[in-house]
Amino acid sequence: MEEKLLRGKPVADALTDDIIDKVGKLNDQGIFPKLAMLKVGNRADDASYQKGATNRCAKCGVETMVVELAEDCSQEDYLAALEDLNKDETVHGILCFRPLPAHIDEEIVKYYIDDKKDVDCFSPLSLAKIMSGDKRGFAPCTPMGVIEILKYYDIDLRGKNVTVLGRSMVVGKPLSMLLLNRDSTVTICHSKSKDLENIVKESDILVSCMGRAKAVDKSYIKEGAVVIDVGINFDQEGKMCGDVDTDDVLERVSHITPVPGGVGSVTSSILARHTLRACIQLHDL
Ligand code: NAP
Repeated sequence: MEEKLLRGKPVADALTDDIIDKVGKLNDQGIFPKLAMLKVGNRADDASYQKGATNRCAKCGVETMVVELAEDCSQEDYLAALEDLNKDETVHGILCFRPLPAHIDEEIVKYYIDDKKDVDCFSPLSLAKIMSGDKRGFAPCTPMGVIEILKYYDIDLRGKNVTVLGRSMVVGKPLSMLLLNRDSTVTICHSKSKDLENIVKESDILVSCMGRAKAVDKSYIKEGAVVIDVGINFDQEGKMCGDVDTDDVLERVSHITPVPGGVGSVTSSILARHTLRACIQLHDL
């Protein structure tokens, strides 16, 4: 059954090798790509993402820095820190950890990040670039990781019926647009969708990003379908699992990403690659 698993590590390793090569060429010209991470307070989720991003960037030769603001910093403090990073010519990519504390209005601050440095698609302008197919834009890292996995494992998207379960701004919606840009026929489902099981059963490819532990079993799956499981959940025993009951669907699918070890393993490599690309674009190379 191992051959059915679309593991994230080989994808991340291939991306890393390519980034190392390109960063080396920039370094020869005296250019050093750098990612800045802006965080508020001390959330455990942020710390783990920061660690993953820092380690992967280090492997790729991409420099990192972290700007930490106190949990009770004001919105003005936050915007001032963001503006400093926008202006800092040694910084090419900015990652704003989210969600922000309630007293900082994400709906306001998201307009302040320089879209040329917006490597995780915080700004509405970045989203507009994805919608319009502008290749200079940066898609959010997780949806882009899904696309890279499909590409690495040679899974054709053109003309395929793809169902995306979930419509959040960080995963489902931008991912649907990336799939559409690659000529898939995309159906987007959400918590108010009816007859989910039959919709998914018509799909050549299912991407699940609902955040519902093992909600999808084999009754949803078309024989030979490809399943990409973006969900990160914990089952009743506290074990990490996806949205899809992998053991149950394994016989029916042609391929499936494991959780853990699938989509989540690719995200930080995408972040490093986006920082590299931002650096190249900012230098007009
Ligand atoms: P989110 O903002 O909570 O969005 C979940 C989406 O799923 C919503 O659109 C919701 O519909 C839909 N949904 C929820 N229950 C459903 C149901 N029973 N049937 C159909 N649709 C349903 O979550 P998110 O931030 O997009 O994250 C989704 C999952 O991906 C989470 O498990 C998260 O941990 C994981 N994730 C993984 C990575 C990674 O690197 N692998 C990165 C980011 C997120 P409504 O819009 O109608 O509410």
